[in-house]
Amino acid sequence: MKHTQLKDNHGRIINYVRLAVTDRCNLRCFYCMPEEGIQFLDRKDIMSYEEMYRLLNVLKSMGVDKIRITGGEPFVRKDIMPFLQKIKHDVMPRSFSITSNATLLHHHMEEIPKLFDALNISLDSLDPNRFHEITRRDDFRQVRDNISALIASGLNVKINAVVMDGKNIDDIIPFVEWTRNENIEVRFIEEMPFNGTRNADDISNWDYKQILGHIRTEFTELEALPYISSSTSMMYQVKGFKGKVGIIPAFSRTFCGTCNRIRITAKGELRTCLYSNKGFDLLGPMRSGISDDELRILIRDVVQKKEKNGFEAAKDRNGYIPIYESMTTIGG
Ligand code: SAM
Ligand code: SF4
Repeated sequence: MKHTQLKDNHGRIINYVRLAVTDRCNLRCFYCMPEEGIQFLDRKDIMSYEEMYRLLNVLKSMGVDKIRITGGEPFVRKDIMPFLQKIKHDVMPRSFSITSNATLLHHHMEEIPKLFDALNISLDSLDPNRFHEITRRDDFRQVRDNISALIASGLNVKINAVVMDGKNIDDIIPFVEWTRNENIEVRFIEEMPFNGTRNADDISNWDYKQILGHIRTEFTELEALPYISSSTSMMYQVKGFKGKVGIIPAFSRTFCGTCNRIRITAKGELRTCLYSNKGFDLLGPMRSGISDDELRILIRDVVQKKEKNGFEAAKDRNGYIPIYESMTTIGG
């Protein structure tokens, strides 16, 4: 049965959910989590596949028909494939995508193109040494091979690169060059203060304007493409190139006005803004036996308190004070 479309208190239609299926990861990207000492969730505290399935079904009945799977690294969760198949075939989202570091995709290369409309791959460098410096792991070759296989499969592949001063600025031009002959979208993301440590003061100061300026020094024929509403990305294309280039002002937060999304963390918290440190527990009530109707009421209630934008959400911490949480907890 279809229920009234989910809307927030600012009149925005909420039709997009990002679900973190785990908080664990096989890489240790320095801007995302510390190398050691991370307190991962206990198995019993994360949502089971059945619980996630139920929640996505309930959300779908409220018009949330765009689903992105994220984490942590989704493919480190045991038996993820049958769950993804079930979401695709039973929940039947209008759009189904996943964000991954691509380290483990070679185990699932046949199924992946049949499952997803789009794949976002996080890759912050095209240089093996810099890749190691950033991720603290040696998976560069496997990741590059997996990306090549994905592109060859014809999937809509987006490459997400966090831009970090002193780390990967030299990669910006080669990344754009990559779009010359490949039909991919390379998206540069401003670094955000979510690295899971108490030391988030020195995040990169490369904002979208600086990134754009840097690209233009080499590619003077970079053209802006029309803005797609609710997209977080400003899109460009170098004249004559096959692929596209995006810039995501994640820290500048210029896209909040058209926000259409919510996040569900691995432990079943509903998050209404990336910049808020408030999570609303859905898993506890679900385990206590609330009905689907009661769950819908709870979700509507939380979404009625959604922050107007990422600045309002961070107001409690004077707007810019870092949150210290890792993106793996929030569900990137
Ligand atoms: N493991 C998967 C991956 O890396 O694609 C999915 C989870 S990861 C948390 C999702 C996205 O968040 C990645 O594109 C990653 O680069 C981004 N991310 C994590 N920490 C970030 C930070 N501090 N600033 C900007 N982006 C960040
Ligand atoms: Fe893992 Fe993704 Fe975080 Fe890197 S960004 S540590 S791949 S969750």
